[in-house]
Amino acid sequence: MKVFKFGGASVKDAESVKNVSVVLGTQGFNSCLVVVSAMGKTTNALEKVVETYFVKGDFAAELEDLQQKHLAVAQDLFPSEHAVFSKIKLIFQETEAFLRRNKSPNYNFVYDQVVSCGELVSSVILSQYLNYIKFSNSWIDAREYIKTDHNYREANLDWERTKEHMSSLDRAQCYVTQGFIGADENNFTVTLGREGSDYSAAIFAFCLKTDSLTIWKDVPGVMTGDPRKFQNVELLDHISYEEAIEMAYYGASVIHPKTLQPLMQQQIPFYVKSFLEPTKAGTRVGSGVAPAVAQSFILKENQHLLRIATRDFSFIAEEHLSQIFSLLAKYKVKISLMQNSAISLDLCVDDLYNGIESLLSDLAKDFQTELTREVSLFTIRNANLDELNNLYNGREILLEQVAKRTVQAVLK
Ligand code: ASP
Ligand code: MG
Repeated sequence: MKVFKFGGASVKDAESVKNVSVVLGTQGFNSCLVVVSAMGKTTNALEKVVETYFVKGDFAAELEDLQQKHLAVAQDLFPSEHAVFSKIKLIFQETEAFLRRNKSPNYNFVYDQVVSCGELVSSVILSQYLNYIKFSNSWIDAREYIKTDHNYREANLDWERTKEHMSSLDRAQCYVTQGFIGADENNFTVTLGREGSDYSAAIFAFCLKTDSLTIWKDVPGVMTGDPRKFQNVELLDHISYEEAIEMAYYGASVIHPKTLQPLMQQQIPFYVKSFLEPTKAGTRVGSGVAPAVAQSFILKENQHLLRIATRDFSFIAEEHLSQIFSLLAKYKVKISLMQNSAISLDLCVDDLYNGIESLLSDLAKDFQTELTREVSLFTIRNANLDELNNLYNGREILLEQVAKRTVQAVLK
């Protein structure tokens, strides 16, 4: 059995959905599990629905708009009497009904119940379309298999329960399911964190011990830099799991950081390929590869630089650090780089869950803080140190760190 994962860009409209079937055709559509994300920018639009709901705005109109977009895609794929239309409507009706009934003030809980509908609806459309063109498959609800705790918006996997549930799947069949979503102990929907569909695919691959996992992207594979941001980048044909883990950790958005550990543990070959050129080899991530030597670049944007100092200019000691780290965990503010000096701690952070304001006000009780918003973290692996200044391209450097041949700089 193989696992194939298709992200939002690969199913953004009817043409793209048709292209998924072309890609699957090149692979031989048998014994596979297809994991799909929400179409295009649907997740962002659903995040907006949740915001509108909490400010008591017209969330129903926004949901209706999304429903119309999905129905329009379906109109280009199916004859008008097809069952897919009522299935799409049902998903949106249930989402709206949930919001009308909901009494929970817990933003993250409500978010997961609502935002998950993007993956439900895209997977229904894809599964139905594949069946319609005679690629027969069963649609399965990922929430019956991916079992987690109730840390909404970033749920932690319960591997034992997940493995148990997945043992009922037949490795000879074809399935279509959702990325990004799962269920907690009480069967409420959870999500695994933004861009979490890669991780879902890796969880299925791990538990089903599949022969491989392929992630289909709009780039040729893993490159020495994001081709949308850097010139003269090259495709890496074959890299080790460790290399891929580091690249993901530093922010190479081509792979979600949590995806690789399960694959490495089971030694499952992992491919990153282009859905535009499905017969090309792409990148193979696996074992037995010499460490890469090519200089590679990773730019992580939308970061913030937080400088924390004690109020009395005493040294930042262990007690301070543990207090700071527990506040970071509490507000889900993620550290992407840290550096300390005698009296201050500098953190380059990622604020995916909008926790930074609350973090700052809690920190203010004991510390002085200074925040520089919207900086970038630039990582150069296997750096050619003589060329560094050219690479910074005249941008202001707020912080720089060199470890072996990896250089990281926070740039304004
Ligand atoms: N649809 C979700 C997101 O956009 C999950 C994913 O795409 O992997 O974050
Ligand atoms: Mg997505």
